[in-house]
Amino acid sequence: MSQTKDIPVPDIGDFDSVEIIEVLVSEGDEIQAEDSLITLESDKASMEIPSPEGGTVKSVKVKVGDKVAEGDVILTLETADSGSASDEKQDGGEDKAEKKQDEPAKQEQSTKKEAAGKGGDDRKERPQRKPAPDDTDIQCQVLVLGSGPGGYTAAFRAADLGLEVVLVERFDSLGGVCLNVGCIPSKAYLHTAEVITGAEDMAEHGVTFGKPKIDNKKLAAWKDKVVGKLTGGLKSMAKQRGVTVVHGNGQFTSPQTVAVETKDGTKTVGFEQAIIAAGSESIKIPNLPWDDERVMTSTLALDLAEIPKRLLVVGGGIIGMEMACVYDALGSKVTVVEMADGLMPGTDRDLVKVLEKRVKGRYENIFLKSKVTRAEAQKGGIKVHFEGDKTPDTDTFDRVLVSVGRVPNGHNIGADAAGVEVGERGFIAVDEYQRTNVEHIFAIGDIVGQPMLAHKATHEGKVAAEVCAGEKSAFDARTIPSVAYTDPEIAWMGLTETAAKEQGVKYEKASFPWQASGRALGMGREDGVTKVLYDPETHRILGAGIAGAHAGDLIAEATLALEMGADIQDVGLTIHPHPTLSETFAFANEIAEGTITDLYIPKKKKK
Ligand code: FAD
Repeated sequence: MSQTKDIPVPDIGDFDSVEIIEVLVSEGDEIQAEDSLITLESDKASMEIPSPEGGTVKSVKVKVGDKVAEGDVILTLETADSGSASDEKQDGGEDKAEKKQDEPAKQEQSTKKEAAGKGGDDRKERPQRKPAPDDTDIQCQVLVLGSGPGGYTAAFRAADLGLEVVLVERFDSLGGVCLNVGCIPSKAYLHTAEVITGAEDMAEHGVTFGKPKIDNKKLAAWKDKVVGKLTGGLKSMAKQRGVTVVHGNGQFTSPQTVAVETKDGTKTVGFEQAIIAAGSESIKIPNLPWDDERVMTSTLALDLAEIPKRLLVVGGGIIGMEMACVYDALGSKVTVVEMADGLMPGTDRDLVKVLEKRVKGRYENIFLKSKVTRAEAQKGGIKVHFEGDKTPDTDTFDRVLVSVGRVPNGHNIGADAAGVEVGERGFIAVDEYQRTNVEHIFAIGDIVGQPMLAHKATHEGKVAAEVCAGEKSAFDARTIPSVAYTDPEIAWMGLTETAAKEQGVKYEKASFPWQASGRALGMGREDGVTKVLYDPETHRILGAGIAGAHAGDLIAEATLALEMGADIQDVGLTIHPHPTLSETFAFANEIAEGTITDLYIPKKKKK
């Protein structure tokens, strides 16, 4: 049996007459619950309206240009009588069919924008959970395993939503990789590097400084102070929120218990729900003398035990290039060896070119399409054997930094005992509610897939905590911006040209060269470029990329533009302060619009 229903515009907030700018379905279409039906655009924002259930579209009642309000009928839908698709998604909307083991857990450009919000989601209030077993040392409503940016965010958000939370962390300090041996210490040193190279660059402006004297122990102590301020802050915020922190290695022993090896013996923690936030660690390639401290991962390199005369960086990805940048500024002669045919594989070449140009002039060597096959520790250094077109067969370096990627910790948490499926490579698959295959166990951060970035982990941490608390929440970000904090910085968000070409996505592009930015010229940093990718028909922004000083800060505006469904005109008409680097994004959009006056671009001849 089937029935025909009217599908109305749901509650759309304070708007009472909003224009339809796209109708995304036609008569006869088979649609699923949450498929987008129409796009509305007000003067503030645009939003897609999802279908509350699946079925066949019988007739569409609206067209582009119509103005609609809550309750207006969008279409009539023929549905099966046996319960709607959205019923299956109740209580957190678990959809196990969507899960794939060992795949990046999220697709960018999600179309589920409204899944968590006002449009059509009808999930229940927080359901009754099986209580935490009472034969354990500690009981809680939510256990969070791992205190990195994902874990501490999840723990704090859950506590703020009124849940009893236990946070388990194997190290003495909270904050995970990001705060202790990742984002924060590396960026502290990168600031030092920027000041040193910035001072060198001033020679061209007629100002010269002497060679800097570097006290590496003092510099490392300063970095430790920065880290200490943040990790200490986390400790006090955990206390303020009433989050119980248990230090020690935690392993699941059942679907509702974790055993923690603390300094005072094993403590068992029973939980109603758990959030796995156990992160990742550096990959160590074989055939290197890892027991010699001169062979380092990024963690050891951040200790700054010495500034080597000659440093080999194995892996020209983001982390490798950031560390290369630090050691180069501190005085090391840096060689980078990368297997791919360019630095930072996967990143758009026009952006990477800006970085390559600068580092080619500074580094001793950059070997592309090359690899290290083995190395031996010798008294005078680490003797490295290479394979590649332009590499020597061997060379000896004072230190070697290996930065070839990170592996998730999925196999180190006793996941089997809880019934949580872990893929071969150690990732745990989740849905948009961050649920694993086990209904009351969630996972977030590096352990659920690429991109392995702190801001992705924190966002997911909030979603998991909110779903644990029965809130309507889901991971529906359209993009996760990426930044290499190298000199110059490289940042991108949304669609990249590399991905567009691979996936056959149609786009147009406009690039603004920083030689025409007064601010960049004044800073002596006209080496940058800002580009925008947009839809050739709707002119909506699809992606952006920036290479240049402070690109990491500048990309936030483009990210907001994408999230808000802005088009190139929206950005071009937004008044940007002058003279700033932020103008470069507006200028790129003006180029796309054909309204730029800060450059002369001859008009294309009409055919
Ligand atoms: P993690 O930060 O890895 O935290 C996991 C925590 O779980 C750790 O504290 C670990 O000790 C704990 N744990 C694991 N297993 C157990 C267990 N069995 N019992 C108890 N505790 C356990 N990202 C950015 O976004 N921007 C950057 O600039 C940036 N720079 C980086 C620079 C470097 C050098 C590195 C290495 C990484 C950088 N990253 C950066 C990546 C970023 O650090 C990670 O994406 C982020 O830390 C992931 O957060 P997470 O919460 O998933 O896990």
